[in-house]
Amino acid sequence: MRKKVLKRLISVLLVCVIAVSTVTIQSEAHIESESPAFPGNNWRGSNGHTITDIKIYINSSSITGPLIMDIYYRPMIPVLGWNAVSNCQVNISEIKNTGSPTSYDWVLVRGAQLESGVGGRIYHRNMSGNLITIDETNRDSNWYRAEIHMTTSMDFWQKKIKVGKPGSGGPSDPSPTDAQIKDRARTVFMHEVGHALKLCHPVTGSTPTSTAGHNIRRTTYTGPVYYPYSVMNTGGYPDQYEDIRASRQEHDTQNLRARWG
Ligand SMILES: [Zn+2]
Ligand SMILES: [Zn+2]
Repeated sequence: MRKKVLKRLISVLLVCVIAVSTVTIQSEAHIESESPAFPGNNWRGSNGHTITDIKIYINSSSITGPLIMDIYYRPMIPVLGWNAVSNCQVNISEIKNTGSPTSYDWVLVRGAQLESGVGGRIYHRNMSGNLITIDETNRDSNWYRAEIHMTTSMDFWQKKIKVGKPGSGGPSDPSPTDAQIKDRARTVFMHEVGHALKLCHPVTGSTPTSTAGHNIRRTTYTGPVYYPYSVMNTGGYPDQYEDIRASRQEHDTQNLRARWG
């Protein structure tokens, strides 16, 4: 009898240990979660798109200057890289620049002059077509169309290419190659499409996590900040940090699965 009680006590204690470790992990940064208690790495609410059949419409205003169609569409690279996630429903079925968008299943892409230093930005519209504000503190909004604006200035993209190795944060390269410029613009576009899929900038933390690929360390004036390798990082690859990646990383993969199943 005593033995049974002891066994039960041990199993209860084990459950407690497991529960405690789960709580510890959830309090760390970068866990992909839709838990209301935990501000994760993605937005909740709907995005107006049929997630298994997303169409991207490239308005002609966004294919001037350095941003040719190749920036937006090259099979599987980079934007369709969001499709190649196993066990995930997300599917971008069409990217086109002819005709006009016929429904809210289209993510609309326009050319723009954005504020200094910004290559791309996403806007969200409600059913009536009015802009709605969505930020990290307003995560529950439904939107009906994502609209991506891409900076069309050649000068802007040229200046984004820095001298030296990626991440050097040095001066602009006076003669960047076309390939470098395209690569830079593709990275921005891939990031903005990530937002259209309701992914946020990664949650950062002041302590390391136990998740692989999630402990890139940046030193700021308030102390160290840890964050994952991700195409959703801010700062812009390869201007300042070499760890802002141009392609989908494990964090992004996990996050997309967590958000859309
Ligand atoms: Zn962003
Ligand atoms: Zn993550």
